[in-house]
Amino acid sequence: MNATKTIDTTGIDIEKIRADFPLLSRKVNGKPLVYFDNGATAQKPNRVIEALNHYYRFDNANIHRGVHTLSREITLAYENARNTVRKHLNAANPYEIVFTKGTTDSINLVASSFAKKYISRGDEVIVSVMEHHSNILPWQQVCEERGAILKAIPINEAGELVMEEYYRLLSPKTKIVAVAHVSNTLGTINPVKEIIAAAHAKNIPVLLDGAQAVPHIKVDVQELDCDFYCFSAHKVFGPTGVGILYGKEKWLNAMPPYQVGGGTIKTVSFEKTEYADLPLKFEAGTPDISGGIGLAAALDYVNEIGLDAITEYEHGLLQYATTEIKKLKDVKIIGTAKEKAGVLSFAVEGIHPFDIGTLLDQLGVAVRTGHHCTQPLVAFYCIPGTVRVSFAFYNTKEEINIFIEGLEKAIRMLK
Ligand code: PMP
Repeated sequence: MNATKTIDTTGIDIEKIRADFPLLSRKVNGKPLVYFDNGATAQKPNRVIEALNHYYRFDNANIHRGVHTLSREITLAYENARNTVRKHLNAANPYEIVFTKGTTDSINLVASSFAKKYISRGDEVIVSVMEHHSNILPWQQVCEERGAILKAIPINEAGELVMEEYYRLLSPKTKIVAVAHVSNTLGTINPVKEIIAAAHAKNIPVLLDGAQAVPHIKVDVQELDCDFYCFSAHKVFGPTGVGILYGKEKWLNAMPPYQVGGGTIKTVSFEKTEYADLPLKFEAGTPDISGGIGLAAALDYVNEIGLDAITEYEHGLLQYATTEIKKLKDVKIIGTAKEKAGVLSFAVEGIHPFDIGTLLDQLGVAVRTGHHCTQPLVAFYCIPGTVRVSFAFYNTKEEINIFIEGLEKAIRMLK
């Protein structure tokens, strides 16, 4: 589509940016693609695609194992990628950055390993009603295994955490708090600093699920003072199959390995195994090497555009889309928190979200429909699901106009 610079007051050069993403010029059902499913996964800039290509053409070797040139070169590149992630999150040390398969894998790692050492019968774990299943099920499973209790912070109608209830839930039995930084269904930016401060006042660690935050806002793990932070590369313009767990050194050192095998050890004998130092203790087997390098390329790209500019630009898109959608009859926005990022979810009275999604697809508009892996949350709103529009910095106001026109048409047809 012909993107213009009309809404850009943030210094974002939208034409140049869109040209960096080859998939954005695709047609879908004969129409220019309007990609509004960035919350599920984001498109990749040439920079990332080329990094993956280059790795397999010129650099492929295994890391941390060989003395030969290729192995040494790629080990260095992989460790440089780790340091790029460290800088991006402002972590104190590169060894506090663990490469995983993604957010889900990172949370499973913490839940499983942390529980082994710190959670026993009668203990409590706190999550929230708005969590993605990936930040519920690992905790539910370890709680069941260990006889612990999973508690959920309630939300209000706007989709904000009820903080008084959270303060009430914190108790000497609470072993860990795990909440989303930004909700994937509502877009709510949670008051994570307050959440962390209240937990720390009782010596309780906090894990933040940053899957929907890292693509949209600056994250500084030292400023937040979170104990664990997780995100997925593919939602921040990097490859699928790779993600990050940040953990404070003191916790990662104290926790037992999650999966074990090659790469995680110092010495092995049948009598006794000594595990490696951080981060290798948590990185069993050959990792997604090109994925780590691709993630670093994505973060470099994002940082060249600048997260402040991205946040402001996307805020403009969200405000515009919110204003426009409010003009339509029978549309109810789900998630009206004061602080939001990147997501506009809605329900239309009497119409199933799938039907709207299917009709929009005919017009080339890709949105997500359903429960978005947050069934307890959609149950709270007593709806089958929502239609979710989720933005990236390559989206435009013109695309929002196409979507709104399409939505109007879909509602007319389905009513
Ligand atoms: N948490 C949140 C808030 C998410 O939005 C997602 C992805 N939709 C996940 C966790 C899981 O991420 P992944 O599938 O990349 O592991």
